[in-house]
Amino acid sequence: MESRYLMTTYGRPGPALVRGQGAYAWDADGKEYLDFITGLGVLALGHCHPAVVEAVCRQAGEMIHCSNLFHIENQARLAQALAEGTGMARAFFCNSGAEANEAAIKLARKHAGAGRFRVISALNSFHGRTLATLAATGQTAHQAGFEPMPDGFDHVPFNDLAALEAAAGPQTCAVLLEPVQGEGGINPADPAYLAGVRQLCDRRGLVLIFDEVQCGLGRTGKLLAAEHFGVRPDIVTLAKALGGGFPIGAILATEQVAATFKPGDHASTFGGNPLACAAALVTLRVLQDGVVEHAARMGEYFRRGLAELAGRRRQVVQVRGLGLMLAAELDRPGQAVVDACRDRGLLINCTAQRVLRFLPPLIIGEAEVGRALSVLDEVLAE
Ligand code: PLP
Repeated sequence: MESRYLMTTYGRPGPALVRGQGAYAWDADGKEYLDFITGLGVLALGHCHPAVVEAVCRQAGEMIHCSNLFHIENQARLAQALAEGTGMARAFFCNSGAEANEAAIKLARKHAGAGRFRVISALNSFHGRTLATLAATGQTAHQAGFEPMPDGFDHVPFNDLAALEAAAGPQTCAVLLEPVQGEGGINPADPAYLAGVRQLCDRRGLVLIFDEVQCGLGRTGKLLAAEHFGVRPDIVTLAKALGGGFPIGAILATEQVAATFKPGDHASTFGGNPLACAAALVTLRVLQDGVVEHAARMGEYFRRGLAELAGRRRQVVQVRGLGLMLAAELDRPGQAVVDACRDRGLLINCTAQRVLRFLPPLIIGEAEVGRALSVLDEVLAE
């Protein structure tokens, strides 16, 4: 039915997953998988966390949607929780990471005023698949066939402050960066680089946008990855993990930048509806109730295991990442390893051709990490 009725945008060699619990998922034939993809970094609390299930079911019975024409209590509560948790001032809610980045670009352009519209982002970045976020994405492979890209996007090598400084011109309004590049191969920023970018933005009056769609919300062992670097962005974008599996995205901004948006400037029919915000409120509460710290500890544990494995298996050329956003770069394409792991009941993903990407649920335990490492070891030994 898929091959007959769906557009063929996804290559799907994998099984049909029909049930999930915690770090595990089961396919339609009852086969069990340890899930180190978690819906591409979405299921921070694992599959079907009981608190998320309870909150979604309860809210679904009260009110699913009402539109932003009306006050939405859950939305205000979620904005408050995000502001208090991150130190940012105000939120706008949408439905996905790409939409969050679109909103951030619009906010930065309006904030800068007429004539300043260019956004600088990094090579190897990934910011989404809508036309503007695709133009911001620093990978021409994703853009091929969809040209011309919207005007106003410049790309510079990641972690190269001089290149960024040279690219910033009179029309530049913002710098858009992932503190840890995800899809581009799990590349953390250098702390000195991000500090330098902040100073550059302050000197030139540029808005600094951090895309934390993948690296935010505890994934790196801090609520925002920015905390690792001691750098505060003017806008941060979130999605993926925010709703515990329910679609919701957000931008958070400082008071000064947020004040640019006036009624009618930006909107979303579904953005921040009561059901999405109920899912996000409970997800955030559980994350802040010790899960983020747990992720930091488990990230260290997993990383040590991967480093030991790299010492034994010469195909692994580098282990890198932050918290539970980890990668093992191979000296060869990684898809065969991904397929063999899946056959043995471990779901992992490969990005940038040779980079095995690990995004386990943040509630993962040592036993599961150990199991994943031994499957990986077996597969690499073969
Ligand atoms: N930004 C980053 C850093 C991402 O990793 C992604 C998705 O992988 C996006 C934006 C786009 O998010 P979405 O697929 O929800 O539009």
